[in-house]
Amino acid sequence: MIDLHSHTWFSDGLLSPHELMSRAAELGIRQLAITDHDSVAAHRAITAQDVPTGMQLIPGVELSTLWDNREIHIVGLFIDIADEPLNQLLLRQQDKRRKRAMDIGLKLEKAGVTGLSDYLADLPCEAISRNHVADFLIDRGHARNKQQAFSKHLGKRGRYHSQAEWCSISEAVTAIKAASGIAVVAHPDRYKLNRIKLRRLLTEFTEAGGDALEVSYSNLHPDKMNNLADLCCELDMWASVGSDFHTPHTTWMDLGRVRKLPAHCEDRALWLHPRWPVTDQQQSSA
Ligand code: AMP
Ligand code: MN
Ligand code: MN
Ligand code: MN
Repeated sequence: MIDLHSHTWFSDGLLSPHELMSRAAELGIRQLAITDHDSVAAHRAITAQDVPTGMQLIPGVELSTLWDNREIHIVGLFIDIADEPLNQLLLRQQDKRRKRAMDIGLKLEKAGVTGLSDYLADLPCEAISRNHVADFLIDRGHARNKQQAFSKHLGKRGRYHSQAEWCSISEAVTAIKAASGIAVVAHPDRYKLNRIKLRRLLTEFTEAGGDALEVSYSNLHPDKMNNLADLCCELDMWASVGSDFHTPHTTWMDLGRVRKLPAHCEDRALWLHPRWPVTDQQQSSA
């Protein structure tokens, strides 16, 4: 099994890299990409001995970008985690995350809710996420669940919404490509774009040098997956597969809980990409 999108506690995931890889191994995942939001700290923390036998760990990242006033997530796979310009971009993005959290914290204080910065200071993450702020709001009784924390407080129409000025799609793609990576548009149906806008987004993405589209991911209706596969063929893109795993508690987004790619885009599977590295095991079994 393959899973090309997952998070650790270095961004808004619950598990350490070690726990994440163990869980993936138990679930039979042979190729796993760790793609934390705007951070490669998990990959810096992992040594070759930590990777379970038989597993290919793929160095990845998920960059937040702004496009047409919307937040679009771009996954980079097989990136060189030591690449200097990429790391500079990650530092800028992390800084924007800290500033946004402070801004939300100030808005909360004005409404009489204190303690966000202390709460965040105790977390192991390198990239502070609204997901953490949502946990804080639930913990303090200001929201019943994540969905409510976002719709009522943190989302675009939320009371404490704060917009970070993320990098552009072309900056993200350029940084990923310069770090020898493959660029993927993450979870395309979560942006609530109509077909024309989605096609425009993907066209701009491929023109900037982007490679692939997540066609199969958690909780995606098979009809929608087929539509995405059609788009992938039409725009001559590669097709990726990833759960976007954050925590074992969200069972419908568990590692590897994704459908197989539709037959008509199987030959576009990202692992057939010419720049996809072949592991020693694959070579010896070929
Ligand atoms: P950020 O990247 O800091 O803006 O935070 C966005 C993260 O919050 C996403 O990566 C999801 O993990 C999580 N998230 C966003 N919207 C929701 C939602 N409606 N319900 C639950 N989690 C969400
Ligand atoms: Mn997340
Ligand atoms: Mn995302
Ligand atoms: Mn993600």
